[in-house]
Amino acid sequence: MISKDILNKAIYKIKQQKQHAEQIADKNLQKALLNTEFLNIYQLEKTALIENAKCEVYNQKKLYNIKDIETKRKQILQKLNIDEKSLLPNYKCNICKDTGYLQGKMCTCLKAIINEELYKQSGLNHKLNSFENMNCSIFENSKKIKNLYDTMKKWCNCPSSAYLNIVLTGKTGVGKTFLMECMANELIKNGNIVFWTSAFNLNQLLLKYHTTFDDNKTNYISNLLEAEYLFVDDLGCEPTLKNVTVEGIYNVLAERVENNKKTIISTNLNLKEIQDKYGERIFSRLLNKSNSLCINIENKDLRLIKKS
Ligand SMILES: [Zn+2]
Repeated sequence: MISKDILNKAIYKIKQQKQHAEQIADKNLQKALLNTEFLNIYQLEKTALIENAKCEVYNQKKLYNIKDIETKRKQILQKLNIDEKSLLPNYKCNICKDTGYLQGKMCTCLKAIINEELYKQSGLNHKLNSFENMNCSIFENSKKIKNLYDTMKKWCNCPSSAYLNIVLTGKTGVGKTFLMECMANELIKNGNIVFWTSAFNLNQLLLKYHTTFDDNKTNYISNLLEAEYLFVDDLGCEPTLKNVTVEGIYNVLAERVENNKKTIISTNLNLKEIQDKYGERIFSRLLNKSNSLCINIENKDLRLIKKS
């Protein structure tokens, strides 16, 4: 489960939404019922539905013609200049009717609210970049860049991809974060729960988890484990804390792979440096060819076309 505070906030928000829609509809209905003609047909329709249902149970001919009553009701409303729809709750989500769940599964609208809450914790304070805003043609190596962006967009739209980990390596300024933001944006649009964190913040969460000794300690790492897609920006910039950093990152990665959840990492470190800093276990997990895709972006890839 995603961390309790975030889930509770999101559920509270969606409940408010539902309540609001229902209150407005009820207010409109009460107002309409002040008209005697409408009140009569409204009550008749209620009675008719109950009586007809009884007839159905006893296999008898139905007493009321519901269609006729409905038509009459519509005519009255029209005469009163009342929009029929205004008497029904105008839910923000027509799929789950603002309950947040559909057949026991989270509806995309609830996931969207969770993403909003998770985003507040991401440390990002701007609108995420998107694939649509990326103009590859400005780069000298535009073919390679376009290929990279196309491949990543495809991956975002292929939940069954065998690649569970994407590792983007390259020096500062080659646009790793920009690309990751496009990916996060695309995945959110597709209705996934996405958690974005800097490696520095990830380390802090692992430290809090490690040094807390009550039942709530899992709250610190539940978003890291449970988000459908986890983005870790700038791996390697965090200080290595003994018994915390390497072990924690390994456990997060291992549990996510175990549960078929996807992780996208950017790092300035090269492969040798990753191995030196994090050791063999993390190295081989991140660069396991069967489920990890490692892409190196070079500075020269991003040389801009000179204006003539
Ligand atoms: Zn919904």
